Amino acid sequence: MENEKTLILLKPDALERALVGRILTRFEERRYKIAAMQLMHMTPDMAKVHYSHLADRDFFPEIRDYMCRGPLVALVLEGRDTVAVCRAMLGVTDGAKAAPGTIRGDFTQSFRENLVHASDSPEAAAREIKFFFPEFVDK
Ligand code: ADP
Repeated sequence: MENEKTLILLKPDALERALVGRILTRFEERRYKIAAMQLMHMTPDMAKVHYSHLADRDFFPEIRDYMCRGPLVALVLEGRDTVAVCRAMLGVTDGAKAAPGTIRGDFTQSFRENLVHASDSPEAAAREIKFFFPEFVDK
């Protein structure tokens, strides 16, 4: 799909490790347009909404603390087949299993501290863009 948008989060470990520039460069080099971008903090309540599919898992407190422990960068990317391509650019969730050449596969071995979030479907992208950028107008 042309002009498809997705929601990306550069998680707190990306900022702690000073990898924001290198990760953004990958998306820019792939010609994705940054349609919105903001430095922000995730609150525990936001974590419960954003990761509602994991909220009753025993490891949820660790995920919540990780996502809330420092600033993150939220952005909306726009381009062709953005949802699927950005997920492929991230690699699988577990950094140790992510293919070399993907962001996770090049920069982390961790399951949890995997640097980047990307919406996993167009429906999730629409919902997450609204959640992180309530003022965003889709043109
Ligand atoms: P993804 O971010 O690849 O879409 P999920 O939505 O399943 O993956 O999980 C959300 C985030 O929660 C992951 O990116 C990771 O940071 C963390 N996570 C998920 N499952 C685990 C796990 N089994 N152990 C540690 N962290 C996990």
